[in-house]
Amino acid sequence: MPLTPDQQAEVDAQRAQAQPTLRAVSPGMEKHLYTAIPVLDHGFVRVIDYMGDDAAICQAARVSYGKGTKSVQNDEGLIRYLMRHWHSTPFEMCEVKLHVKLPVFVARQWIRHRTANVNEYSARYSILDREFYIPAPEHLAAQSVVNNQGRGAALEGEEAARVLEILKTDANRAYDHYEAMISQDGQLGLARELARMNLPANIYTQWYWKVDLHNLLHFLRLRADAHAQYEIRVYADAICKVVADWVPFAYKAFEDYRMGGATMSATALDCVRRMLKGEDVTQENSGMSKGEWREFIDTLG
Ligand SMILES: Cc1cc2nc3c(=O)[nH]c(=O)nc-3n(C[C@H](O)[C@H](O)[C@H](O)COP(=O)(O)OP(=O)(O)OC[C@H]3O[C@@H](n4cnc5c(N)ncnc54)[C@H](O)[C@@H]3O)c2cc1C
Repeated sequence: MPLTPDQQAEVDAQRAQAQPTLRAVSPGMEKHLYTAIPVLDHGFVRVIDYMGDDAAICQAARVSYGKGTKSVQNDEGLIRYLMRHWHSTPFEMCEVKLHVKLPVFVARQWIRHRTANVNEYSARYSILDREFYIPAPEHLAAQSVVNNQGRGAALEGEEAARVLEILKTDANRAYDHYEAMISQDGQLGLARELARMNLPANIYTQWYWKVDLHNLLHFLRLRADAHAQYEIRVYADAICKVVADWVPFAYKAFEDYRMGGATMSATALDCVRRMLKGEDVTQENSGMSKGEWREFIDTLG
């Protein structure tokens, strides 16, 4: 369960306090505010605050005195134009602040996205909880034989049981030692900042993560992609749903041009033109390497 009853009561109390505002409000985002969306076995994503909406993107693009909205149709068209032509700064005018609880090995991938502001739970000051990510059996996959950075079929039977046993035993033993090392009751009394080095990478951490919409979409493009590791992808998928409710026009344009669209090299584009003229284009006469050709054919479906 991602939130304790006390934490849930705090969320409910925050949601019970509405205040009038002159600021832009996104009805879709209001329904998410403060609520924890469960991810993995102990993780979550919560929207803590946000700024702007679809109209704010148009307002910034038009450098307008008013709301920036000409008509709903115009706004959607403008947002699609901005997305299509990589005119990205109007998207930077919207911001979101998230509270994320995630395993440390996922946090290591996430933190590589440098264009955000982060404040992480301090394990120098506080004591980490005994909470570890243990994959569900269907995600206990074998190493892929075709992709060094990927997974193959799920382990089954004895192998799966043995791996789960190792993960649980190691995590609990490391945590028992962590507790013993920080214990002050006439025992070891090691500093928390040192004792934590013994903890495994599947322990959960938490942070506040604030990012603008342009950089958030870049993060989602990379991490909601099928090639991203499952454990970060599920967080990106949860955030995608939030963004779709927050800025529906921007998200639709993002889905169309970025998630569903493709970039082609000049060589690949030339191959498409030759194909349209009826030429028999093969990898050998395409000018592409085998890998490029495979990806090109995948793109064309
Ligand atoms: C599938 C996948 C596999 C990966 N594998 C590896 C791996 O094996 N090893 C590894 O180390 N990383 C790996 N990464 C991480 C990847 O290389 C990027 O670090 C990460 O995705 C963050 O992307 P970013 O730098 O574009 O994002 P951000 O840090 O958010 O930056 C956004 C953009 O801002 C600009 N920018 C930001 N900071 C700078 C800067 N200091 N100088 C110049 N421009 C800047 C760049 O244009 C950048 O694209 C992987 C990522 C993915 C999605």
